[in-house]
Amino acid sequence: MRYLEFLQGMDPSMPLKEYHKKRNFKVTAEPYGRAGRRTRGIYMIQKHAASHLHYDFRLELAGFLKSWAIPKGPSLDPHIKRLAVHVEDHPIQYATFQGTIPKGHYGGGTVMLWDQGKWECLDANANLAYKKGNMTIELHGKRLRGKWKLVRTRIPKNWLLIKITDMYARSESDFIITQKYVRSVTTKQPMNEIASHKKPIKKRKKVSA
Ligand code: MN
Repeated sequence: MRYLEFLQGMDPSMPLKEYHKKRNFKVTAEPYGRAGRRTRGIYMIQKHAASHLHYDFRLELAGFLKSWAIPKGPSLDPHIKRLAVHVEDHPIQYATFQGTIPKGHYGGGTVMLWDQGKWECLDANANLAYKKGNMTIELHGKRLRGKWKLVRTRIPKNWLLIKITDMYARSESDFIITQKYVRSVTTKQPMNEIASHKKPIKKRKKVSA
């Protein structure tokens, strides 16, 4: 701990301790990241083809990305409660990460940036709502929009993500958003292209004859 941080009575790198401990930054392309960088409520989902496919749902709160792994991904159907397993905080720098994590390492597999945007907490105090494990949020993503509930169950690491009925709600019987969008929200690549380290195809310049 540096002296200045000691004087401030806190070590801002502490929340990333678990994140750093789980990874070997000599082999993974994931960012090491630093604490304390604040943005204005960014939100993203990374589709992660690890040993079990899941969708990593992240909300920026107080300088970190609060993270939940959703095995089945989000559903726009208000009748469906999706298990969201709370995992370790990720650094803000993780927000744009897309690529592969070597096999045999923590999270080994391919990561696709599936959605990105902003979020806002509709509760008076976002930190308090998070601590209480009962958040009402609004997502302003490219794919997910509208109001959602994020609630902790009796098993502390298990939360539920539930769509609130609004103009963005859709019945799962006629619209499954995880099937509708199978490409990266930024590079438009499918999973196998990201896995094979192909560069996204850029618009070619017109070749004059
Ligand atoms: Mn993951």
